[in-house]
Amino acid sequence: MWKRIVNKMFHEDLDIQHRLLNLILSAAFIGGVCSLIITIVIGGYSSAAVTAVLLIVVLISLYLSVIRNRITAAAVLITGMANLFIFPWMYFNSGGMYSGMPIWFVLGLIFTWLTLKGRICYVMYSLNLIALIGSILVGENHPEWFKPMPEGFMKGDIIQTIIAVSAIIGIIFKYQTHVYEKQRMKILEQDEQLHIANDAKSQFLANMSHEIRTPINGIIGMNSLILEELDKGKTDNIAEYANNVNSASQMLLSIINDILDISKIESGKMELVPVEYEVFSVFNDCYNMALTRAAKKGLELAMDIDSRIPSVLYGDEVRIRQIINNFLSNAVKYTRAGKVTLRVKESLRKSFMSYLVFEIEDTGIGIREEDIDKLFLNFTRLDEKRNRNIEGTGLGLSLTQKLVDLMGGAIQVESTYGKGSKFTVSISQKIINDEPIGDFQKKYREFVNQKNENEKSVYIPDAKILVVDDVDMNILVVKGLLKRTHALVDSAISGEECIKKIYDKHYDIIFLDHMMPEMDGIETYSKMKEKGDHKNVDTPVIILTANAIVGAKEMYLDKGFTDYLSKPVRYNELIDMLCKYLPKNLINEEETEVMTENNIESRFPMLDTKTGMGYCMNDEEFYTEMIQTYVDGDKREALTEALDKEDWKLYETYVHAIKSNSLNIGAVTLSEHAKALEFAAKDGNYEFIREKHAELIKEYADMIEGLKEALDVE
Ligand code: ADP
Repeated sequence: MWKRIVNKMFHEDLDIQHRLLNLILSAAFIGGVCSLIITIVIGGYSSAAVTAVLLIVVLISLYLSVIRNRITAAAVLITGMANLFIFPWMYFNSGGMYSGMPIWFVLGLIFTWLTLKGRICYVMYSLNLIALIGSILVGENHPEWFKPMPEGFMKGDIIQTIIAVSAIIGIIFKYQTHVYEKQRMKILEQDEQLHIANDAKSQFLANMSHEIRTPINGIIGMNSLILEELDKGKTDNIAEYANNVNSASQMLLSIINDILDISKIESGKMELVPVEYEVFSVFNDCYNMALTRAAKKGLELAMDIDSRIPSVLYGDEVRIRQIINNFLSNAVKYTRAGKVTLRVKESLRKSFMSYLVFEIEDTGIGIREEDIDKLFLNFTRLDEKRNRNIEGTGLGLSLTQKLVDLMGGAIQVESTYGKGSKFTVSISQKIINDEPIGDFQKKYREFVNQKNENEKSVYIPDAKILVVDDVDMNILVVKGLLKRTHALVDSAISGEECIKKIYDKHYDIIFLDHMMPEMDGIETYSKMKEKGDHKNVDTPVIILTANAIVGAKEMYLDKGFTDYLSKPVRYNELIDMLCKYLPKNLINEEETEVMTENNIESRFPMLDTKTGMGYCMNDEEFYTEMIQTYVDGDKREALTEALDKEDWKLYETYVHAIKSNSLNIGAVTLSEHAKALEFAAKDGNYEFIREKHAELIKEYADMIEGLKEALDVE
């Protein structure tokens, strides 16, 4: 309690005069108590009474100053009481001019200057002065009014007063200097921080302008090429140029989004928007997003997700995706060959909270130890020379770090230069449904692989469908699922684009994603309803959402959506929606019958076509191409050569490739056998390899020959 009172009396927010007053009052209180005890002990009862009155006045002043914050009243009370009454009384009762009293008079007058300001200070000073000088003059004319000091006391009294008063004045000045010095240092520090912030801002603006200029130059350049082509009446390269314009615009948009996010966070305006979300859907989307990029570079992408993680959590789903995607896309960007792995574990579960640990590991270029601290700075890119061909702004990690901080999480980095890096993110989320998420790979395959025996199919070549989703891969998945229906599918990657498209063309059905940055599905839908002057006023709109919680469906229907489809989108559910909401005349029953006849399984009986097609988004053409690539990339000779040379590292590389490629086309057993040999190579179990090699080659040869034949039949 005492600490709190002292803190309140001398807090830095109070002005110096107020603090001085409190200091003087505290000193007067302590001095008063001591002198009261002494005077009672030596029997000076009338002095004791005066001291007691003084103490009461001090207490009242303290109350006014500390509790009521009425400084002037407190200062007037104490200086007035001391100078107008107590000091004159003491003057006549303890020795007059031949005592320490004149020195006390000086102190009393100084207090008036120190504790009051403005006009009242001059008024009080004049009154006090009159009272004290008056006491001296009156005393001169009435020496009989003095109570003489006991013999020999004068010297002692004067010495004691000199010591006390000089100490009090000294302490006051020391305190005042200390406060001023502290304030000066604070101002200097603030000044320096202002300079640093200003420099950082200038640097940030300079960098930002530079980063933004690059894609804008690209857009302007490509656009002038398009115009040139049109001028010459040529159209051959326009699509390519327009694609470049597109990717430069995307890059520009992503830079601006990052900058907006960063400035929002820095100005304290970024708020997390927690929702209930399906964990599988988040990992599924992140995987889809990274998979295309990884596949383009020939990298393996592995997901190792603990099957015990709760299936529904509560948190900012959009930001969680952003964090994982940032790390995954960096891992893919900065890895030339090998593998990128996303591992997710639960380190602890306590009072409905799940403490998740995400590890994103790559076999990429790695980071020098001395550079690790710079990773998370705005616009900082490492190894600029080496990475000059890799697109990037140096904003991703800085933003990611800020988002993780906002969630109360932490990031750790481990890296070996030239070998690879591992980023570990720990974040806690509230559990909504603790049912385990289950085997991710299996679920993923089930999700992509919608083909099963009772699968329905429709033939709707005239149906015009619009799919709106900000994740490209999700659009591709829906397009892939709809491929066999022969429907005409258009897509939009944002709410804004959707609004534009509904003016251009009539659609028979629109699938609209809920979770999109900027304008989300609900906002887009209400805009569509609001506008009313477009070509899709009566088009059924189905919301796509990962929000598979109880009550969500009603909420969407209340908002006016025609229906609701939960993500990941399943083939059968999608077809059901089409059958339910498309005009009946668009559905061609006859062709539908033919469609259900499926020959891919019978064509490749040696493959688990469900798995293989799953990796190819159910696109038969793409799948057949993959099988052709597999056959063309026959590694039999290379593998046997590595064995003959006993180059185990090389053997491991080839057998690893056989394992992954086989799994991709659905040669699951062969992939398992190759995996066993890969592990043996890793563990140095060469005996096992020598023993099993021939068997694997035989199985591999049968597979390749079988596939060749099947491909030739077409
Ligand atoms: P950028 O847009 O340049 O990728 P980031 O902020 O995401 O910006 O990353 C900052 C820098 O950190 C990158 O330029 C790169 O040099 C380095 N970096 C990030 N992730 C990795 C990784 N997985 N492996 C190696 N270097 C990385």
